[in-house]
Amino acid sequence: MPIATINPATGETLKTFQAYDDAEIERRLTTAVDAAAALRQTPIGQRAKWMHAAADAMQTEAEDLARMLTLEMGKPITQARAEVDKCIRSMRFEADHAHEFLADQPLSDPGAVGASKAWTTWQPLGVVLAVMPWNFPLWQVMRFAAPALMAGNAGLLKHASNVPQAALYLGSLFAKGGFPDGAFQALLISSSAVAPLIADERVAAITITGSEPAGREVATTAGRNIKKTVLELGGSDPFIVMAGVDLDAASSTAVHARVQNNGQSCIAAKRFIIDEPVYEEFVERFTAKMKALRIGDPMDESTEVGPLATESGRDELDQLVQDAAGKGAEVLAGGAKPDNPGWFYPPTVLAGLTDDMRIVTEEAFGPVASVYRVSGREEAVRVANQTSFGLSSAVWSADAEEQAWFVGTLDAGAVFINGMSESSAQLPFGGVKNSGYGREMGSAGIREFCNLKAVWKA
Ligand code: NDP
Repeated sequence: MPIATINPATGETLKTFQAYDDAEIERRLTTAVDAAAALRQTPIGQRAKWMHAAADAMQTEAEDLARMLTLEMGKPITQARAEVDKCIRSMRFEADHAHEFLADQPLSDPGAVGASKAWTTWQPLGVVLAVMPWNFPLWQVMRFAAPALMAGNAGLLKHASNVPQAALYLGSLFAKGGFPDGAFQALLISSSAVAPLIADERVAAITITGSEPAGREVATTAGRNIKKTVLELGGSDPFIVMAGVDLDAASSTAVHARVQNNGQSCIAAKRFIIDEPVYEEFVERFTAKMKALRIGDPMDESTEVGPLATESGRDELDQLVQDAAGKGAEVLAGGAKPDNPGWFYPPTVLAGLTDDMRIVTEEAFGPVASVYRVSGREEAVRVANQTSFGLSSAVWSADAEEQAWFVGTLDAGAVFINGMSESSAQLPFGGVKNSGYGREMGSAGIREFCNLKAVWKA
């Protein structure tokens, strides 16, 4: 894949970038090692000041940044602004709370281990390599970068090849706040240059957000080199609707959960699993709202759905839809590539799905919803759990006992009750099964790239 900014709304290549050569990669790696050594010595309060200053810097550039996101990957400008704002808030959250998450823990009964005093302390690991995707070019990176830097690690970012301007921006951001040179750097490299970096003894750990094949490959190389990894991979999240809920609210939230970010979110609701008594009414409302969405130029303030980020992404999505339609799925809305410039795809609703259709088990990374009619909660959870993914989930239920039952039975890293899945700096985020392992954010996220050191004193 070329390293380039290509406007997904037009297909026009706006700017291309040369990948770094070996000497430049080596120079950046050496600088990162020096920065990690310096960061390890800084008090966490100092790092918090730098993080707030970096957040201030981002605030002053917010509108330009939002436009850059929209230009590089096509999300509606209103959503790009929201992404920038979320990054700023999460930087401030990490700055204000990292010291609580990383506080030493004394052992209440040190005599039991023959010590006068014993405690645990969280220490940074060193240089962490982050392999990141294009769908939330700032936020996906920030949810790693802010906690990692607060913990005293240095970061190297291998960003997706189609968002180089976002990568370079992030590579310059933290130094603006005062972090040492090299504390967080972008590497403009192709994915084939990642394996040697993972194997390099100066890289302590790796985090990747992206597709299952990429995660598998990164984790395999990391495993061979005994390196810690966090994998945040795909998802095919269920959105379950049981009888007795407000169907107007449920269907509006369902639409938002499916098409946010032009449908390209790992925690987007992708499969809508609807209980028999409310199936017809839900599907009617949901389909009407999907059809009413405003599709168009993502720079336009009123656009709700823009183009997909890449041509190949659109082709793969369309293949899933055509596979289902060819095998007898009902196409209730959308269902075909439009014949105009850019990589647009209409909001699409598929029903009448059968197990031989690829979309039943594969991730649809775009505004395509599958709806399933089920009879009762056991069947709902069976359908929900039938993919190999287990990222997040949403359940609409009016009954507290039923809600608790779903919390206990869904194979997912999160359950959102009467709402939609969303990531935030406060709650841990991550999956089970082929959605990966490890957690980002919350107290768990910042600890992933720390050495939990036990201290024993005679
Ligand atoms: P990829 O997984 O290919 O890309 C994500 C990141 O991984 C990019 O930086 C990419 O670099 C890098 N990468 C890819 N392959 C390797 C490898 N073998 N070794 C090291 N790094 C690698 O995602 P795509 O952009 O191709 O999207 C394909 C599918 O992935 C989507 O349809 C969706 O299903 C899923 N996806 C999930 C995301 C999520 O949020 N969980 C985000 C994005 C995609 P480069 O760009 O240079 O190839």
